[in-house]
Amino acid sequence: MELIYTLEWMQQVARQGRAEGSLIGLVPTMGALHEGHLSLIRAAQQQCRPVVVSLFVNPKQFGPHEDLEKYPRQMDADRALLERLQVSYLFAPTAAEMYPDGFRTYVNVEGLSDWLEGRSRPGHFRGVSTVVLKLFEIVQPHFAYFGRKDAQQARVIRQMVRDLNIDTGVVVCPIVREADGLAVSSRNAYLKGQERRAATVLYRALDTARQEISRGERDAARLVALVQNAMAAEPLASTDYVEIVDADTFEPVERLRRSCLVLLAVFVGSTRLLDNLLIEEDENKKGSLLISL
Ligand code: AMP
Repeated sequence: MELIYTLEWMQQVARQGRAEGSLIGLVPTMGALHEGHLSLIRAAQQQCRPVVVSLFVNPKQFGPHEDLEKYPRQMDADRALLERLQVSYLFAPTAAEMYPDGFRTYVNVEGLSDWLEGRSRPGHFRGVSTVVLKLFEIVQPHFAYFGRKDAQQARVIRQMVRDLNIDTGVVVCPIVREADGLAVSSRNAYLKGQERRAATVLYRALDTARQEISRGERDAARLVALVQNAMAAEPLASTDYVEIVDADTFEPVERLRRSCLVLLAVFVGSTRLLDNLLIEEDENKKGSLLISL
């Protein structure tokens, strides 16, 4: 594996890769790598060569009172892990080079960026779409891999790619979970003592919804109430939002139809966690739904 710090060197490698006809895959991360990241890397390695993993804790996507300073950083462990996976390139630019003095240009995916995560974290998606566009420009990937755990982020990126005619395919991969159902996340490291056990409530609440949907429940308000009640049973958790949205428009729906997401954002202690349930029409069996946790 080659470790690349500078934008110029990365651009040179990317230009050469495109010229040679290689299929470049990119997995953007903020490091503190875990099984979720590894699943994206494996998906990339099945389709592309070379695979570039970027590691950049992007200051522009953190609000002024968020966890930028304490976000876990473990470059040496991440690097060793990527070596073992035989990743081709680790691209770890500096903030000073990504955002030099005088930086002024931002990408804003209107509407989609403004509610749910965008309402709770103003400016977050503007930071995400800006850094992802920069990474796409620098790495020139044919395919880029994102996790469904951050479903709204994946949707925002897909919209940006469509609107700006970017020559990169967006691949969204399933959620990787711990044995007890908790979605793997770098922020799980913040969970102290009883909070780790309490955090499984997100999975349990979504699983309750999953069971009701498979029994035939289609009413969104009743399903939201069910998830809220399941969350309320855990005193260490406080729900930021539960919403059922159309997976394409991200607008709330009244009844489950086509492709929907049950989106959940929760504080466990001071740690903010996300999870979701995907409901899709089964293409092989008209009228029945596929439900993915
Ligand atoms: P992050 O380093 O948290 O910015 O995440 C980098 C990528 O990994 C994003 O596309 C995330 O959606 C994805 N990711 C994070 N956690 C998981 C998970 N548990 N399962 C699948 N993908 C994940």
